[in-house]
This record gives sequence, structure tokens and C-alpha cells, in this order.
Amino acid sequence: LPGPDVVALTGADVAELLPRPGKESDKYRRGVVGVAAGSDLYTGAAVLAVGGALRAGAGMVRYAGQHAPVTQVRTHWPEAVVTELSRPGVEEVGRVQAWVLGPGLGTGEWARELAASVLASDVPVLVDADALTLVSRDPSLLRRAAPVLVTPHAGELSRLTGAARDEIEAARLEHARAAAAELGVTVLLKGSTTLVAAAGRPVRVNATGTSWLATGGTGDVLAGVAGALLAQGLDCYDAASCAAHLHGLAGRIAAEGAPLAAGDVAAAVPEAVRRVRDGR
Ligand code: AMP
Ligand code: MG
Repeated sequence: LPGPDVVALTGADVAELLPRPGKESDKYRRGVVGVAAGSDLYTGAAVLAVGGALRAGAGMVRYAGQHAPVTQVRTHWPEAVVTELSRPGVEEVGRVQAWVLGPGLGTGEWARELAASVLASDVPVLVDADALTLVSRDPSLLRRAAPVLVTPHAGELSRLTGAARDEIEAARLEHARAAAAELGVTVLLKGSTTLVAAAGRPVRVNATGTSWLATGGTGDVLAGVAGALLAQGLDCYDAASCAAHLHGLAGRIAAEGAPLAAGDVAAAVPEAVRRVRDGR
């Protein structure tokens, strides 16, 4: 329930926080987001995360990955700048302002080395999905100077903190807040409502979504959207809460009371931005 330490983020708040390009803008200064997601086994996550990032206003999206997702991303998103990695490291990728790490990455040695390489960078990193499993196994990966935004659902948060999943479900707010404090990161806890917790800030609650979002791949789109906002200079707390708001609204727009596919959510993000901006 809303109280002093819990707030709802309104559309008006989001409209004010969202970056918009000005005359002086160019694609580099508008925010370059790196996406390290997908693998030869899971190509779709790469396509969805890149799509979310492109639709959320990144100046440029750089995708880095294995051969199969590279081919898929090139086919679906000619806008993306793509690097096929010869080894699991992002040193050969150009400069980015934030990374999205994890969806569809796998949890083997290749993925672990790639995650370590991304987390060794000096820019904010969004850690999702398989990368959450990797950092659960090796928490030292999260020890870095630049900010970290983790985007777990309850099961992933359970792996991360060791708390039982049903305990988390029963006290989501407290667990999100505790995880943010203990891990020293911003936590976006997904579910039918989404919570954003960061040390010293009120927990933001987002309920713009729809149950139709409970389908494969929507979380990958959310990761891309939040990554684009990080790259555009929002801090983890604002990027996470604006992304949750826009993603939920995009879900509603895409669904209109009927089924949606995750790609539809990415496609609806610009209309969500318009509605927020116009106060609709
Ligand atoms: P993931 O768990 O990574 O697949 O992400 C699923 C996405 O869908 C997250 O953004 C969730 O917040 C959202 N979502 C899942 N279930 C629901 C639901 N019942 N109502 C609203 N949003 C949901
Ligand atoms: Mg997910």
C-alpha cells in the first residue's frame, strides 16, 4: 500500500523524466546502448531486447553475440550495429553508454566470460535473465564501480538472495528493498505489478501492465527499453521505473484485451511514449 516509502510513478512524472532529442543531438550523444543477449541456442531474446532498445529512443544500438543471433538481429533490425564475437568478450565492440546483459545468453562458460567482460566495463549494466543466474553463482561479478540494475522476477530474485520464492511473493516490497540494500544495486522486481527499489529512495510501484504480458519474451523487451533509457543518461532508478511504466502501457496498447506477442510490445513502445507525453 502507498505510504511514505512507497510511491506510484505517474504518467506526468515519466513525461518529465523521458529524454527527448534537441537541435544539438546526434546519435552518439543521444545514447548508445550495447546488448549482450541471445546465443546460438536462444536467438529470439537478442531480437526482442534489441527491438525494445531501438523503440525506446536509443541513438544507436550495438549488438554483440554469437553467429546465429547475429544473423537474426541483422535480419530483423538493420538499424543495429552488429558485432559477431570471435571470443566471449566485448573489448572489440565500440563505445557504449550502457549495457543490457543476459536474456537468452545461456549459463555456460562462454556466457560467464561474456558477462564478466561486460561487468568489467565502466558504464551502467542492466543484468537480466541468464546473467542473473551467473551472478547468483558468482556474486563477486556485481562488485564494480559503475551502477547495476537487476531485473528479476520472483524466481530469479530467489536465486539471487537465497530467500524462498513464496516468501518473496508474500512480501515483494520488503524483499525488493532488502535486495537493493544488500546487493548495492537497483532492483526492478517483475510481476503483475512491478516494483523498483534503490537504497535511500521510496519504492516505486508500477501497475500500467496487463496480464497479457505474461508471455515469453516480454521481459527481454523490457530489458531493451530500460537499457536505452540508461544509455540516454537516466539513473538506474529512473530508467527502471520509466521503462516499467512504458512497457506496461505498451502491453496494454498491444493487447487491447486480447493476446499479444512480445514483439508487439516493442512495436507499441513509441505509442506509449506519445500517450505519456500527451497526458493521455
Ligand atoms: P519475464 O518474467 O522476464 O518473462 O518478464 C515478464 C514481463 O511481463 C514483466 O515485465 C512482468 O512484469 C510482466 N508480467 C508478467 N505477468 C504479468 C501479469 N500477470 N500482469 C502484468 N504484467 C505481467
Ligand atoms: Mg525474463
